[in-house]
Amino acid sequence: IQDIQNFEGKYPKQLWYLFFSEMWERFCFYGMRGMLTFFMVDQLLMKEDVANLQYGATQAFVYAFTFVGGLFADKILGYRKSLFWGGIMMIIGSIILAIDPKQFFFLGIAFTVIGTGFFKPNISTMVGTLYKADDSRRDAGFSLFYSGINIGALLGGYVCIDIGKNYSWSIAFGLAGIVMIISLVTFMFTQKNMATIGLSPLLHLQDSKRKSYEYATYIGTLLAIPLIMTMVSSPEYTNYFMYTIGPITLLYLAYEMRNFSLQENKKLIAALIFILFSIFFWAFFEQSGGSLSLFAANNLENDFLGINLEPNGVNNAANSLFVIIFAPLLGLIWVWLNVRKVEPNTVVKFGLGFLFLALAFYTFYSTRFFANIDGLTSLEVFTLAYFIITFGELCLSPIGLSIMTKLSPDKLQGMMMGMWFLASAYGQYVAGILGAGMSITNENATKSEKLIAYTDGYQQLAIYALIAGVVLIVISPLVRKLMQDVK
Ligand code: GLN
Repeated sequence: IQDIQNFEGKYPKQLWYLFFSEMWERFCFYGMRGMLTFFMVDQLLMKEDVANLQYGATQAFVYAFTFVGGLFADKILGYRKSLFWGGIMMIIGSIILAIDPKQFFFLGIAFTVIGTGFFKPNISTMVGTLYKADDSRRDAGFSLFYSGINIGALLGGYVCIDIGKNYSWSIAFGLAGIVMIISLVTFMFTQKNMATIGLSPLLHLQDSKRKSYEYATYIGTLLAIPLIMTMVSSPEYTNYFMYTIGPITLLYLAYEMRNFSLQENKKLIAALIFILFSIFFWAFFEQSGGSLSLFAANNLENDFLGINLEPNGVNNAANSLFVIIFAPLLGLIWVWLNVRKVEPNTVVKFGLGFLFLALAFYTFYSTRFFANIDGLTSLEVFTLAYFIITFGELCLSPIGLSIMTKLSPDKLQGMMMGMWFLASAYGQYVAGILGAGMSITNENATKSEKLIAYTDGYQQLAIYALIAGVVLIVISPLVRKLMQDVK
């Protein structure tokens, strides 16, 4: 491992391998994600509000299972095998959906939920292991990794829905599966360059004993599929699940904390503060897949500076495109500030993330001032809001991944990364509820009335985001103390 961590230059070469595996995995993931709501309304004939809640539930489950995936990686499988097993589950899920998307919809989704749970947190943790604890190049590494995520998201998000809508849903889901195979093959062929990173933590045990733990994990995963299928398909079970999973994980963390020193535990508490704030962040940010997509469908002109564009396409793709373009720029800005010794610390960066979020939602709100009499408003102003929100995301999301790997003791890396994504699960869940709260259920509502209802909601979100940002910046010295030597 030391050889890897002593790399020269800006990035270790192993980062590129993980970059490509994750890029293709996100193609599969965002390809599916981009099809779900539309598919449920169009093919499963769900009502729009039901589809929205259902969509929120699947996303909440996906991210909630990252905690399970992270935990099993730490305790039994190691990152590599977890990732591999997750990839296989995702492929099976896509194949099931390709065979008969209508008939097997929730079965396919259940496989995807488990699969992402084993894959997503562990590949992120592996990126962290490429760096020594005090290596200042780590944030830049996560930033590059984040661009890979968004290249996959951009391609998958656009291509799959296009094929599904205009050609065949089976082929669209099948394509997601094929791309996932590419992801896994990339990982298989490159993992020999990873030295001992990500091997099972149980290597000291006898082979047969270790194998029996491993196989128990695999079998347990398969047995969980029917359960997950039932839970995902019922909003009521989703609620129960969300009420319990968070408290259980916190209790479990408290139980684990007894094994660590006071210093290490202080860092874990700092990590929890970041995690808590990120729930709010995602609850607002993830309006993108819910209320903002309805807003795009109802209230946007399709003219962008004279070019004809599909508003929902813009809603899906603008953010990823801006991440790809501006993540490197922001990286340079941080370095530039660092050289001048005025780089904000991580807590303040998180705070800035919320300030950008506030400004973005204020911009979504202000689209109402550009609306015509029919309630159609400017696609340019809408896109500007996505431009701003992207900077908020970049101040929080890649940095959040990086800080989790810095604040967690070695033995809890996977689990803490899982907790970071569990916050996304709650964010998604709350996002659905917020979006439902903003929408007008009256079927005769005009576009103008809908515009006012949604933008009223966005104005409120802007205010709350502003408050959260200010609070974070004010408490930053306190959190910094908990973080001790971690920057
Ligand atoms: N867009 C990022 C990804 O897919 C972050 C998602 C999240 O944490 N909610 O990895």
